Amino acid sequence: MAISTAAKSPAAEFERRSKRAEMLARDAEAAREPLLFASALCREQSTAALAIEEAHLSRPLTGRLADDAVRILPLLGSAVRVAAERGPEELAGQARHRQLEEGSVASNRLIVMWSGDSNAREDYLSRAMLRPYLEVLRAYGVSPDRLHRPGHCPFCGGAPLVSSRKEMRDSNAAARMLHCGFCGCEWNAVRGSCPSCTEADPAKLPIFTSDAHPLVRIEACETCGRYVKSVDLTQDARMIPEIDDLVSLSMDLWAVEQGLTRIEPGLAGM
Ligand SMILES: [Zn+2]
Ligand SMILES: [Zn+2]
Repeated sequence: MAISTAAKSPAAEFERRSKRAEMLARDAEAAREPLLFASALCREQSTAALAIEEAHLSRPLTGRLADDAVRILPLLGSAVRVAAERGPEELAGQARHRQLEEGSVASNRLIVMWSGDSNAREDYLSRAMLRPYLEVLRAYGVSPDRLHRPGHCPFCGGAPLVSSRKEMRDSNAAARMLHCGFCGCEWNAVRGSCPSCTEADPAKLPIFTSDAHPLVRIEACETCGRYVKSVDLTQDARMIPEIDDLVSLSMDLWAVEQGLTRIEPGLAGM
């Protein structure tokens, strides 16, 4: 299985995502606010990643959150602050609630989420906080002590945030990649298989498209009722899947109306 290594600095990668979101927000109408929020969040994550990287270089992190928490927690709060100030309404409310929590409660919450296989939707803020930590671990090859399961990220066990189709060198067929929402890793996915429940019967895996967003499609699963959005990088390699995903928010709203649930909420928490 091919796992992408983060050769670039994690801070620079967050900054690149932030700039792309800001650029897309200029032309996006319905999705402008989510894109601007994502841009602000990525910028804060970039600052956090830089501080965590410095901490790692002064004394290596272990990849065990229970041990690293005391050192990194003070560096992670800005994600919650941005969500409280600029996030979509429901998320902003959760973020304000968290801002009032005591340090020990906040730390415990992250550790519980880290070690369990809990409901992803409620854990958006924890993921947003921990992502700079995970990206630094990945950049330095420090394995996180988390559970792994089929269809999920080979590095950290996180659920796929988005999928993409990408040209392969020496091949005419496009590769299907999945992108982890927790550590930013991308990996080569099993084609024709649901990343949530591993259903592989093509009759149960419908694909939905929209004329408004020709490079995006919804890959659904009738067995578990979940879906992942796929972005076609073979047509435009400048796209950053988790950022460009936000432009077609209307497709998510449609999918929810059909009774489908996204495997992992998008970067704007929806
Ligand atoms: Zn991951
Ligand atoms: Zn499924």
